[in-house]
This record gives sequence, C-alpha cells and structure tokens, in this order.
Amino acid sequence: MLEEQEAKRRILDAASPGAVTWIPLELTLDQVLAQEITGSVDSPPFDNSSMDGYAVRAAECKTGDVLQVNEAVQAAGLDCHLTLQAGEAIRIFTGAPMPLGADAVIMQEDVRREGNQITVAEGVVEGENIRRRGGDVCAGQKLLERGDVMSPARIALLASQGIPEVAVHGKPLVQIVTTGDELVEPGAPLLPGEIYNSNSPMLQAAVTRVGGIAAASHAFDDPEELHEVLGAALATADIVVIAGGVSVGEKDYVKEVLEELGVTTEFWRVKVKPGKPFLFGRHPDGTLVFGLPGNPVSAFVTFHVFVAPVIRRLLGDMSEGASGDTGTVSVVLGEAVENTGDRPHYFRGRVENGTLRLSGTQQSHAIFGLSRANCLLRLNPGEKLDEGASVAVILI
Ligand code: AMP
Ligand code: MG
Repeated sequence: MLEEQEAKRRILDAASPGAVTWIPLELTLDQVLAQEITGSVDSPPFDNSSMDGYAVRAAECKTGDVLQVNEAVQAAGLDCHLTLQAGEAIRIFTGAPMPLGADAVIMQEDVRREGNQITVAEGVVEGENIRRRGGDVCAGQKLLERGDVMSPARIALLASQGIPEVAVHGKPLVQIVTTGDELVEPGAPLLPGEIYNSNSPMLQAAVTRVGGIAAASHAFDDPEELHEVLGAALATADIVVIAGGVSVGEKDYVKEVLEELGVTTEFWRVKVKPGKPFLFGRHPDGTLVFGLPGNPVSAFVTFHVFVAPVIRRLLGDMSEGASGDTGTVSVVLGEAVENTGDRPHYFRGRVENGTLRLSGTQQSHAIFGLSRANCLLRLNPGEKLDEGASVAVILI
C-alpha cells in the first residue's frame, strides 16, 4: 500500500497546467492567470474630486471666507475644462475632473450657500478631497503575476485598467462516473435494497467548487456497460473520476475495465482513512483517471486530498493549495482525539468560535456527520491529541 505523501507526489507529477485560453474578464473568478499584467494607464487617470462640494483655492477658503459660485458645474463625466477665477468656487461632484486653478474641494456640508455665494463654515487645506492622478496605480506598475488566482477585487483592478479579456489556463473537463446496481437518482422511487446516488451530485459540486467543469454518467455493475461508459468518459474528459466499484467486491469491475481501455494503473490502495481502495491511472492520451471508494465520506475525503489539487494544478495553480494543504486554520480541540489505526486518518469536524469538535459518527457512509463538518483534521497513525491542544485543520 502506497504512503499518502508519495501518492500525492506521483499524482501531481503527472499533472501540468492546461492550454492557455483568453476569456472575458468577468468569467475569470477563481481561475489562474497565465500572463503577467502591467498597468497601462494611471489610476485615477486624472485628478478628481472625492466629495460632492465646491472646487476652490485652499488659500481663499478659510473659515468665514465668502466665495462667488461660478454658474458652470463640473459633474462626473466629460471634462468641461473649467478654470477657477480668483474669489470663486465651482460646484463639483464625486469623481468629476478638477477645474484648472483649483487645489482643493470643500464638502458641501462645510459651507452655507445663499444664492450665488457660499460662506465657509470649516476651511480646507491644499489637496484636500482631491484624488490625484496615479494615486492608486501608475502606468508601468506590475499589477498581477502569472499564477495569481482571480478574485472579485482583481477583476475590478483589471477592469479599471480597461482590460476586457485575460489569459488563463482552460478549465479541465471532469467526468464523474458513478457505479453500482443499487443506485437510484434522486427523484425516482426507491425499491427495497436500493439507495440514492449521492456521490454524483456531491462530486459534481466539488469539481465546480475547485474550478473544473463537471459532467456525470452512471454505469451499473456490468463489465460491458462499464466499458461503454468509461470509454465515452475517456474520449472526452481531461480527468475521469469514478466512484465505487474499485474495491475487492465480486462486482468491482472498474480495474479490469480500465485495463481493457488502455489505462495504466499507476497505483491502487493508499494508506489513508477513509479511502484505502483509491486508484490512480493514466490513459495514453493524457487523461488522468481516479477511482474513489463508493462510500460517500471516503469519496469526499479522497477527492479533497488527491483530486482537488490536480484540478487546481491543471488550472495553473502551482501554489501550496495545489498540494491540498492550504485553507488551513489553527483551532483548539474541544475534545481529545486519537488515531488508533495504522493509516493517517482524516477526521471530520466542526469548528465553532475557534473550537473543534468531531461531527457525528466517523463512519464512512455517514453523510449527515459529513454535512455538519466544516473541516478535516488529519492525524498520523498513533497520534493522540488532548482536549485544549492547538491543531491546524483543513477547511472544507
Ligand atoms: P463500492 O465501493 O462500490 O463497494 O461501494 C461502497 C459503498 O458505497 C456501498 O455501500 C455502496 O452502496 C456505496 N455507494 C457506492 N456508490 C455510491 C453513490 N454513488 N452514492 C451513494 N453511495 C454509494
Ligand atoms: Mg459498488
């Protein structure tokens, strides 16, 4: 049985970022930049007012001064190229270009207006309430690096530079293939002995969350059908994730069918709990194949530990996250936890107000406990932690 870290290393070594593609900026959320981005315009592009008020000369705008209000108004929009004369104030609004000759903006709340005159209630100093050209970003400044992950704020930054499209690594197509004669799709009635297929929607959602494109199919425990369904999956997907049928049961045909289809099993069975019967294989055309245990908690954990980092790597994410170890936070154990087994154990837990408690039964079919969990706690074989101990958990 392979050690967990060796399994992770071998999987990641087989994965490299997908082809570069240009996509509309607003669709790049959570994707990874395949280009460096340098500012091409100053931001703000011109000096402008940060307040609704009056453009003035600070020296003429002390408490008690009276100024004549020019009849022209400068709102946000096209620059009217107004010029401020001595003793004058020009009505101005937030985001509007500064008139020539003005060196401050007085807030409208700080003046008393009567007809065409304002009386200053609270004076201003030079530069007050002006946002200077280039005060945020200067043309030529490096803004983002290759490998940076796009966020709403970064999308705003690039939009503010007038960039409509960016280069990212394309999203991998991940085909989920569930297997099992006992499985029924939600919505259909259950006959005795049957259960609902929960792995398919769970894994589709998990794929979407890490940035892949998910598709799903199902095969009954029949070698011919499995051959057909897996063959179609291999023909279209970048990654095939099979759930169930990969253990040692009489109807676990996945391994032999993968072999028929030309997939080389790189390894099968990893020292991890839950999730021992995990399989990793490669098809000659480059498709990566993962066989997850059918039990939903085992499928969830092995997806999180081994498959999610690969999807991030195909997206171009070479950061720590790609090894599955980011998104960790330090918490205090609300109860003692011990791994009495001989494999690393991923316990499911719930952190509330910085304190971690295990969530429900830790059995690998128990979806309710999993649904209550917000983190995984990994313990090495034999590791024992006391209540009150500080531990790092993996957020899920
Ligand atoms: P297997 O790995 O195929 O032996 O399945 C192990 C356990 O997981 C069995 O109890 C299956 O019924 C259950 N199981 C397999 N696939 C699914 C699925 N897609 N949804 C829910 N449970 C499943
Ligand atoms: Mg099965």
